[in-house]
Amino acid sequence: MNALLTLESASFTYGDKTAVEGLDFSLMPQDYLCVVGDNGSGKSTLLSGILRLKQPHTGRLSYNETLHRNQIGYLPQQHHVQGNFPASVLEVVLSGRLGHKGPAPFYTKHDRALAREALTLVGAGDLEQEWFGGLSGGQSQRVLIARALATAPDGLKLLILDEPMNGLDPHARTLLYELIRFLNTERGITVIMVTHDVNTAMHFCNRILLLATRQVFFGAPDEFESTELGREFIRDACGGNCAICGFSHKHDEGPHV
Ligand code: ADP
Ligand code: MG
Repeated sequence: MNALLTLESASFTYGDKTAVEGLDFSLMPQDYLCVVGDNGSGKSTLLSGILRLKQPHTGRLSYNETLHRNQIGYLPQQHHVQGNFPASVLEVVLSGRLGHKGPAPFYTKHDRALAREALTLVGAGDLEQEWFGGLSGGQSQRVLIARALATAPDGLKLLILDEPMNGLDPHARTLLYELIRFLNTERGITVIMVTHDVNTAMHFCNRILLLATRQVFFGAPDEFESTELGREFIRDACGGNCAICGFSHKHDEGPHV
């Protein structure tokens, strides 16, 4: 099977400053990659590169030719939505269809059906008339995932999420992890998720990328855990008081949130 995307010795810079370098990895269709690393390690910059918002300064980033731009969904790092954000949930999801509109200035029945289908799929069908700005953090993330799903005409192939769990309570995190896993395993969507929560992420993903302004590790969670570096990173991430430390994360009973 061909890789969905490949980075070869890629680096990304801002002016003279290198944000992240030494990127050398491939993702296969239906991989679930978690990108971890301290603040400023280059995680969001890498996502900008994958989204083609930034060109590699050196090296190469290539996509499988079957992956089209409009099959990629992106949830940026969250900034608080204004409480009076003036749109209903359905309108926010429908706005993902703007690029598909013909000459008529209205959304079609088809657009509305796709938007409702996407909302139902993410478990937010009952929210369609709510104001988007009034939603909880977890609800708004689900709605934005629905928007990404409704946007892709032939189905979403790649979902990119930048710290989607930030600010969510443990229950909302669990629900969001479950939704992302469902989209990955049942819908075959490749997932790239930036997260600080490596312990939970390791339950779900099949690839880990550790950045520290360069690629430090890329591989399977088991492999990550088998390295001194990986164990140290996991230990630090949970403050040394996590039941997972010193054991395999597989012995834990569920998402550690
Ligand atoms: P992370 O997402 O891991 O916190 P970023 O990719 O946002 O890291 O940032 C990596 C480095 O690039 C940091 O040193 C940051 O200050 C710098 N950086 C990020 N965005 C910009 C920008 N727009 N202009 C200049 N430097 C930037
Ligand atoms: Mg970031």
